[in-house]
Amino acid sequence: MKITVLGFWGGFPQKEEGTTSYLVESDGYSLLLDVGSSTLIQLEKIIDPLTLDAVILTHYHHDHIADLGVLQYLRQLKPTQSVAELPIYGHMEDTWHFDQLTLPKVSKGIGYEPSKELEVGPFSITFLKTIHPVPCFAMRIVEKATGKIFVFTADTGYFEELADFCYRADLLITDTYFLEGNENHHAHLTSKETGELAEKAQVKKLVLSHLKQNIDLAILKEQTEKYHHHSVETLLASTQLKITI
Ligand SMILES: [Zn+2]
Ligand SMILES: [Zn+2]
Repeated sequence: MKITVLGFWGGFPQKEEGTTSYLVESDGYSLLLDVGSSTLIQLEKIIDPLTLDAVILTHYHHDHIADLGVLQYLRQLKPTQSVAELPIYGHMEDTWHFDQLTLPKVSKGIGYEPSKELEVGPFSITFLKTIHPVPCFAMRIVEKATGKIFVFTADTGYFEELADFCYRADLLITDTYFLEGNENHHAHLTSKETGELAEKAQVKKLVLSHLKQNIDLAILKEQTEKYHHHSVETLLASTQLKITI
């Protein structure tokens, strides 16, 4: 499976680079994971958004859904012939936001049940509720044909169960918003917590994402690497970064 970073800043876009969104592709199937600010502009560089097969959302904070409405409008207004209704998977713990996922003949909101495994095209997805001010779910996405594992922590503070959930991921993308010294935050991870998580979970590759605009990102990466073995390849997320696992 191939994962492409479409946006990686936390909270708001900056200097032509957007907030959380990843394109996850396998065997001709395209799944969009979160739809942050600037997603459409970056997505169009890879595929025609009309060919997108499904969308899945971790939670309904603006930096993860900012471009969802315009994606719906694109699918409504652009086609010259009929395009299939786009399935948009989201949790149902916030019905006001969940209801926005459905636009008749354009997109259909589908609630995921966090305690159950979800099949989406070539992927099998499991969920873990995170530590965050609103309901939010980490996702473990397994490519069924190969068994390759991509885990996205979504937005979260540190908690014990995360390590098991990320266990032996081929790729782990984290919400590493803070430098060391801000541990046990109610919404996001620090560099230290990320490094310890990668170490405990024995992940193969780590990408630090949901980055904070006004901190030194080289220091964030250095601090993370201090807490795990150097065999874990660690990268800072960047626009159009592509990883094949
Ligand atoms: Zn966020
Ligand atoms: Zn959030």
